[in-house]
Amino acid sequence: MKLQEFRSKEILARYELPLLPGEIATTAAGAREAAERLGVPVVVKAQVLAGGRGKAGGVKLAATPDEAAARAAEILALRIAGGAVHTLLVTPAVDIAHEYYLGLVLDRSAKAVTIIASAEGGIEIEEVARTNPAAVLRHALHPLDGLQPHDVQAVTEFLAIADEHRSTFAAIVEGLTAAFFGCDAELAEINPLATTGDGRLLVLDAKIVVDDSALPRHPDIEAMRDLAEEEPAEIAAREAGISFIKLEGTIGCMVNGAGLAMTTMDLVKLAGGEPANFLDIGGGARHERVAAAFRIILSDPNVKAVLINIFGGITRGDEVAHGIVEARAALDRQVPMVVRIVGTNADEAALILEEADLQTAYSLDEAAELAVAAAEGGGAT
Ligand code: GDP
Ligand code: MN
Repeated sequence: MKLQEFRSKEILARYELPLLPGEIATTAAGAREAAERLGVPVVVKAQVLAGGRGKAGGVKLAATPDEAAARAAEILALRIAGGAVHTLLVTPAVDIAHEYYLGLVLDRSAKAVTIIASAEGGIEIEEVARTNPAAVLRHALHPLDGLQPHDVQAVTEFLAIADEHRSTFAAIVEGLTAAFFGCDAELAEINPLATTGDGRLLVLDAKIVVDDSALPRHPDIEAMRDLAEEEPAEIAAREAGISFIKLEGTIGCMVNGAGLAMTTMDLVKLAGGEPANFLDIGGGARHERVAAAFRIILSDPNVKAVLINIFGGITRGDEVAHGIVEARAALDRQVPMVVRIVGTNADEAALILEEADLQTAYSLDEAAELAVAAAEGGGAT
């Protein structure tokens, strides 16, 4: 679960990181009042989940409360990464001397929580890593010992933090690390961490991504969820108990089991197609969940064909087949479908699908090939 900047900062404040005060506004008038209370100049910032808001025009300076209102109106009219802007953060503007990047990430290939740091902050770290990899430090933490003084030392030296900021910087690294572990994050980053003309070291922007599987033990973070900022398809999937990740291809996949879903995506690619999503309907899925999965898959206008691949273990093939036939009849948009159901009650499932005139396949290779052909305009129904 991605958290907006103001939510991420709310969490970092619990760890006593140096933050500026801020107020949330949802209207231009609200931004004006916030600027009056906070004192100008201020920065008005779109609270969307996408990065690169600055480049997209979603971060603007304002020298007076009236200007804050005007900038707020402009930002509220923007669409950033395809989404509308509903919420603004108004916060005092500072005179930035230098911008650093400081983040912690769960680095799966290093099998370690890793500190990422760069003295070329402010811009996206992926871009720095691409254009000037030597400017980015990746420093893995020991999995059992966690953050040690020598880790802080290494980062401090890499960034050439000035003597007067060293103790504050150490507290920031410690606080960010504690926040990362404390909320079971996958990512906790500060960009920029800035020195100011008046000699302060401040967190000006923050982003935390929490591991979804850990949310049950963080009800306070779950309560920060802003449904207006999430994809409708992802909200529907969560409510239906379906694991869903949208991708860029044309072949919608409905599969039970995460491993089988990955395999199905691989075989779609092998057959020359591109999956439109990862979707796991889970074990023991009943027809309501199948219907929800259809709605989610077909809400993506890129989907040109659907490949359904079910292995009946606890899940009964005939139950899924019924679900497919029923749900398909109720859809507003029809696309070609290829169905493969094997395992428990596969024969019953095959009869139901044949009666409904659905294209079936026995092997997974065949199913993937048929789905790719169908998406390209070949024969499946
Ligand atoms: P992002 O583009 O989504 O990462 O949004 P940020 O909050 O990081 O803002 C983008 C950039 O705006 C920062 O890197 C700064 O250069 C600039 N910025 C943000 N806050 C201030 C501020 O208080 N004063 C000044 N001068 N620039 C700011
Ligand atoms: Mn930023």
